Amino acid sequence: MELKATILRYESLPSTNTEAANQARRGAPEGLCIVARAQTQGRGRQGRTWASPPGAGLYFSIVLRPRIEARWWPLLSLLGALASRDALREACALVADIKWPNDLLVEERKIGGVLAEVIETELGRACILGIGLNLRDGAFPREIRATATSVERVSGEAPDTETVLQALVRAIADWYGALHAPAGPERICREWEASSSYAFNRRVRATVGSETIEGLTRGLELDGALRLETEDGRIERIYSADIVSLRGVAG
Ligand code: ATP
Repeated sequence: MELKATILRYESLPSTNTEAANQARRGAPEGLCIVARAQTQGRGRQGRTWASPPGAGLYFSIVLRPRIEARWWPLLSLLGALASRDALREACALVADIKWPNDLLVEERKIGGVLAEVIETELGRACILGIGLNLRDGAFPREIRATATSVERVSGEAPDTETVLQALVRAIADWYGALHAPAGPERICREWEASSSYAFNRRVRATVGSETIEGLTRGLELDGALRLETEDGRIERIYSADIVSLRGVAG
């Protein structure tokens, strides 16, 4: 299973995910990458905004057409986080933590995010894997100044966008290959657990719609759900939620 990447570069787009989705709907092959110097309507999860000032970050989306069972598709967003972490390590010598499911944190601040969207196309179902990495200290909007960071801020040096892009594409191809190999889902989950301080023994509150669940994290299910042990000893499986860390690490 080899992923062949083709990169299309744009000065500015509303959203690299939207552009990649439009091209995928028209039949673009797997491996098409859309990169923009700026996004005017960059998106996060649940309709949130991803601030994308010109030249400040890597704004990237790739078209994937996975040949795996439907139940493993949620792992694609974890794969995006792993690949981002690898790219930051290789291209910027930075160690990023992963907050479930796929925020990248350095010094507890967000340096990157992943947005995986599943769409129907004329060639079948596709996943658009979008990744935003803050490389330079662009003008972050006021709302995120206290919670966001960039490679430049934490390492004192602005990385070369192209180097980060090449490392990211390589890492996605590697993990995508691993996902399609025997025991692929297991490898992705174990690697995610090894890379995230949120994987085990972290006291968190998960908000799922109007419901909140508190508990200690107990690793991942093979389909990427976060296992939370509640006070009465039950294991809850969290598929889509906002997670807040309550206090450090517990036993
Ligand atoms: P949260 O980070 O609150 O847990 P989330 O994981 O759902 O939310 P995403 O959808 O990945 O977040 O990203 C959107 C959120 O990230 C925005 O609501 C904003 O708080 C923050 N954000 C937006 N742009 C950036 C950026 N360039 N760098 C860091 N954080 C950002």
